[in-house]
This record gives sequence, structure tokens and C-alpha cells, in this order.
Amino acid sequence: MGIDPNFRTARQVVEEHEGHKVYGPVEAPKTLGIHGTIVGVDFDICNADGSCITACPVNVFQWFDTPGHPVSEKKADPINEQACIFCMACVNVCPVAAIDVKPP
Ligand code: SF4
Repeated sequence: MGIDPNFRTARQVVEEHEGHKVYGPVEAPKTLGIHGTIVGVDFDICNADGSCITACPVNVFQWFDTPGHPVSEKKADPINEQACIFCMACVNVCPVAAIDVKPP
């Protein structure tokens, strides 16, 4: 199952990271929540495939190390979500449907 497209209202913001919100629950290192609002990445689904980083034309993502997470030990962090041009390339290439993009 992929990211919940209703996470912006269904989940609570529990912290900020690199200028974006983090939607809980968060219980590091095993549960990391969803990073970003415009470009949401479910860190608990992300498997560090990296296709989104390659596909994004405006460099929204940057690797973030997550040692001890059961799925993968790094995640595509949407540090630059404000730059998103809504091309949906990342959504389309993600093999595990970890990304949901919604214009503000
Ligand atoms: S929708 Fe396009 S511009 Fe926005 S983060 Fe994804 S790949 Fe980058």
C-alpha cells in the first residue's frame, strides 16, 4: 500500500525538518512518518530506490540517512518542496508509491 493521500488532514504535524513539516507518528529509528506537505514522502514506505531524485527536474529531493529503519537506511527528503513544478515525474517513477504531490 502506498502513501495515504489524505495524510495532510488525517495525520498530525509532530515536527519540522529542513524547513518542511513531518506528519506523525514518529518513533525513530523504526517509524519516521511523512516528510513534506507540497511533496509528501512516506519515509516508512520509501525504499531508497532513488528514481525520484533522478527524475525531478528541479532538485526537490536530497538523501537523508536513516540508520536503523527497517525498510531502508536512507530516504528521499523533499528539502526543496517549494520549488516543485508539479510535473508528477517522482510520483510516476516511485516503485513503492511513497510520494504524494499536491499544489498548495
Ligand atoms: S512533481 Fe516533479 S517537480 Fe515536483 S517533486 Fe516531483 S519530480 Fe520534482
